[in-house]
Amino acid sequence: EVLRRFSTAAAVEEHITPPVDVQHTQLLINGQFVDAASGKTFPTLDPRTGDVIACVAEGDAEDINRAVAAARKAFDEGPWPRMTAYERSRILLRFADLMEKHNDEIAALETWDNGKPYEQSANIEVPMLIRLMRYYAGWADKIHGLVVPADGPHHVQVLHEPIGVVGQIIPWNFPLLMFGWKIGPALACGNTIVLKTAEQTPLSALYVSKLLHEAGLPEGVLNIISGFGPTAGAALASHMEVDKLAFTGSTPTGKIILELASRSNLKPVTLELGGKSPMIIMDDADVDQAVELAHFALFFNQGQCCCAGSRTFVHERVYDEFVEKAKARALKRIVGDPFRQGVEQGPQIDEDQFRKILGYIKSGTDSGATLIAGGDRLGSKGYFIQPTVFADVKDEMKIAREEIFGPVQSILKFSDLNEVIRRANASHYGLAAGIFSNNMDTVNTLMRALRAGSVFVNCFDVFDAAIPFGGYKMSGHGRDKGMDSLKNYSQIKAVVTALKNPAWL
Ligand code: NAD
Repeated sequence: EVLRRFSTAAAVEEHITPPVDVQHTQLLINGQFVDAASGKTFPTLDPRTGDVIACVAEGDAEDINRAVAAARKAFDEGPWPRMTAYERSRILLRFADLMEKHNDEIAALETWDNGKPYEQSANIEVPMLIRLMRYYAGWADKIHGLVVPADGPHHVQVLHEPIGVVGQIIPWNFPLLMFGWKIGPALACGNTIVLKTAEQTPLSALYVSKLLHEAGLPEGVLNIISGFGPTAGAALASHMEVDKLAFTGSTPTGKIILELASRSNLKPVTLELGGKSPMIIMDDADVDQAVELAHFALFFNQGQCCCAGSRTFVHERVYDEFVEKAKARALKRIVGDPFRQGVEQGPQIDEDQFRKILGYIKSGTDSGATLIAGGDRLGSKGYFIQPTVFADVKDEMKIAREEIFGPVQSILKFSDLNEVIRRANASHYGLAAGIFSNNMDTVNTLMRALRAGSVFVNCFDVFDAAIPFGGYKMSGHGRDKGMDSLKNYSQIKAVVTALKNPAWL
């Protein structure tokens, strides 16, 4: 019955009107909503249909200049880095309270612009953003330096100062969470910010930034530019007045960003990039639970997760049973209008990603993997894709090497621990890894041997505010979230003072 209501062409083409209006479409510079200097706008589209939701001001290099000038002034002369850390913390707490009040509108905007299930936006992502702001509000007045011992008659202080004007560039898959992961630690440390949202999803950041100003954020501290990568993004990455850059997105763009930063003023860069994370199912697994976890690890957020468990390695002793059950689970996945209750999967973000994913599915079939579920689009409008599963995937196939960023699960067979460690690590990426086993020795071996920034044991995608997140190898540098992220946004100053009276050394 559920499957007849959902996961059919008719079901994905029957739309619910989003319960929210778009209020902000201009750029946010120096605390004011303003048009782009060029006067240009671009459409942001509803992924359910490809129809225009709203036209948004299109920022480019000139707007980045205006925003950086505002952030510079706010840093060099404004109250934000000079107020007490407690005052900064209270502004962030008020911001969290305001978002709580508007939870459902924020969630609706996020779902409309991105296509993710409304229940996910309202019950998981907006609450996570609120939690994150409270977490960083808690850090604001606990960031401090220390006094270190000297070898001679000196008093030595190590100060932790804000780094200055921070440039941040974020992707479209978790527009609000990426916004929070970036601005939370930067604001807690007392920096000012110019943030460029992804061109596919500009709306929610504008909405919540307005609330942050209502909470008391001084003008110029947070500037939001909607616009495209090669224009606005590149101008931000290469700006001489930007002191630090933080980026989340694809690995090829990460390389460009690093180059722009080094060719301009050598600003330090943190990068959160792509992944091809292994999810390892051992032979002691309860197969039903393992199937459910591996399904979640891959299909969550339409498969558009940088840390998606996109190589499902299954021990040969449970392989056949796992494959049958993984197929059944994918066929039961509820695809539909993301505003409809009970929907697990909405549309992919846009036409480009939709075509790219269908291309990967074709490549899987062409290279000899066994297609056991899905494999095609759903409906004739919008960007819905059937939950797709390939079995008998081999390491050298493109679908096992490249990031698909869609609802396509690849199942690979293995026979022993050393083999799976070697194969799991044989990737340029190292963002995350999952382990499913109750054998303590197996878990201990795997969690140490896997070269990844996050290892999830008998769980996946746990994104608590205090847990650091980031990659090994070509998955990036630095960490978001947790106390480790604060290091990205602090400058360290050593102050050495000669002591007149060495008796008090
Ligand atoms: P993308 O790299 O094309 O875009 C990300 C951001 O970079 C956007 O804001 C875009 O406008 C900007 N950008 C693009 N070209 C630019 C340029 N030349 N100069 C400056 N900025 C530029 O990535 P995408 O396809 O939009 O996002 C999906 C990718 O992001 C996936 O590969 C995924 O793995 C990765 N991702 C990683 C994480 C993480 O935390 N590691 C999180 C989410 C997404």
